[in-house]
Amino acid sequence: MSLYNAIVAVIAGLSVGSFCNVAIYRLPNERSVVRPRSHCPHCGKLIPWYENIPVISYLVLRGRCSGCGAHISIKYPVVELIGGILALLCLYRFGSSVVDTVFAYCFLMALLVITIIDWEHRIIPDQISLPFIFVGIAWSFVNPALSPSSSALGAIAGGGGLLAVGMIYRLIRHSEGMGGGDVKLMAMIGAFLGIKFVLPVIVIASFLGSVYGISIMKRKGKGTRTAVAFGSFLAPAAAFCLLYGPRVLSWYFSRM
Ligand SMILES: [Zn+2]
Repeated sequence: MSLYNAIVAVIAGLSVGSFCNVAIYRLPNERSVVRPRSHCPHCGKLIPWYENIPVISYLVLRGRCSGCGAHISIKYPVVELIGGILALLCLYRFGSSVVDTVFAYCFLMALLVITIIDWEHRIIPDQISLPFIFVGIAWSFVNPALSPSSSALGAIAGGGGLLAVGMIYRLIRHSEGMGGGDVKLMAMIGAFLGIKFVLPVIVIASFLGSVYGISIMKRKGKGTRTAVAFGSFLAPAAAFCLLYGPRVLSWYFSRM
């Protein structure tokens, strides 16, 4: 990984992070991610390009709109920064192939957008999960680490597996535990990671979700039925498996 490549990756990553902010803000409201241009939600001021530079603009403006002084959420520069860091991690992990780096990075950023939207709105936009099932299968045709059959089987097992878990949960608890959004997300994850990661991703996400659920119950008292946004645990688990796959598998199977 040369310094030049690293700088290009970080700058590109920060910009993609900035685009992801737009997607996170607009997709749950069924609004276009390309139009209109970005503006302050409080005063409507159009944001000029020099106030839209990732991270730097936030620091220069000290987290306030230059028009009305309204507070700008720290979430925006944080998402941009994560975009830059993930670009660097992708380059480090997949840098020997430009195609693999780009596919892996698109997957990670889609997971980031899904994590935040699911956390905030309890929905997983079909506009991301459905097309990305096919993006994942497309990658498998050029990815030396994943065969098209493992990718297709991963999509089927991922979606089908979660659908089955949801049906069992409904039978036992008589309530909706898993949304259709989670099923489509898991199909997308299976397509990108292949069949052998379907179970590890679900296990890691369930573990993280339980830890979170228990900590919430401890704080709010027993008996609170907390609907956990499962997608916002599935997506980070998948990101982790993409970047540290072989290590995850050896850890997982050493405990079987
Ligand atoms: Zn404003």
